[in-house]
Amino acid sequence: MYIDYEASLRVIRIKDSEIFKCSYALAAKEENYYLNLEKGYKGEEKFDEWIKPLSNDRIVLNDLLLEYNNTLFQIDSLIISSNTIYIFEVKNYESDFFIEGDRWYSISRTEIKNPLLQLQRNESLFRRLLQDLGFNISIESYLIFVNPEFHLYQSPLNLPIIFPTQLNRFMDKMKKRPSNIKDTHSKLAKQLLSLHLKETPFNRLPEYHYDQLKKGMTCPVCQTFYNHLKKTTLICSSCGGREEYESAVLRNVEEFKLLFPKSKITISDIYEWCNTIKDKKTIRNVLTNNFILIRRGKSSHYVNND
Ligand SMILES: [Zn+2]
Repeated sequence: MYIDYEASLRVIRIKDSEIFKCSYALAAKEENYYLNLEKGYKGEEKFDEWIKPLSNDRIVLNDLLLEYNNTLFQIDSLIISSNTIYIFEVKNYESDFFIEGDRWYSISRTEIKNPLLQLQRNESLFRRLLQDLGFNISIESYLIFVNPEFHLYQSPLNLPIIFPTQLNRFMDKMKKRPSNIKDTHSKLAKQLLSLHLKETPFNRLPEYHYDQLKKGMTCPVCQTFYNHLKKTTLICSSCGGREEYESAVLRNVEEFKLLFPKSKITISDIYEWCNTIKDKKTIRNVLTNNFILIRRGKSSHYVNND
């Protein structure tokens, strides 16, 4: 079964903020995903505002998670009007990008996933689903960029993209198309909602391994990794927040337990996990003060004292 990585993280963020916070410590590549996700949320809010006028004589279904042929796909926004179904893929990309052939790049030449391919994939899966449901209605798909700070260089004219500066005109055009919703349309909407998946593999954590994860302790306020310990105080270089090391180590023991429930709590592991503490003895003191030591020679470890 195909699992979209980006979508899986998005669900975690909503469903389980505790796990999200812990996996925030993922290495740099994954961190980008989180930043993108956050932007995604704000983008969706903007989009919801923009789409409102259409909901009078059309049916708007947001964030549909569907399955066709063992393949999951998510549609940001689906609009059922009397003659056409619109599929909108909404992006809140910020700053400058460019296209070369089928490839998309940020201005720093980092390649990003081509969002048009995702749109095409969704449309094709949805088209086949619709056929199976016995509906024959035309489909139009658009990639919608909602952030006014977005620009795309070298974009061909014929792409199904609505840029921020075109949103108003596109809306006017949509409003002018007559729509007369009938029972069959409501029936289709109900059917789609009944197919909408609530419990899915999207709810699972992305796969991660100890080696992949960035070691160190993060500031609980802004999630930046601490790089400075002054006597017993950790100082966040980003927000200036301060914290006694003991509470930080204990929080990181909890993160470690949550991320690696099968691992035992040992001095070496926590020392490596916390990274910022220079001295193993310090880690031992914190663990000894807060946990119970199970003495087993080399496999000695700590357990909760309750
Ligand atoms: Zn901070």
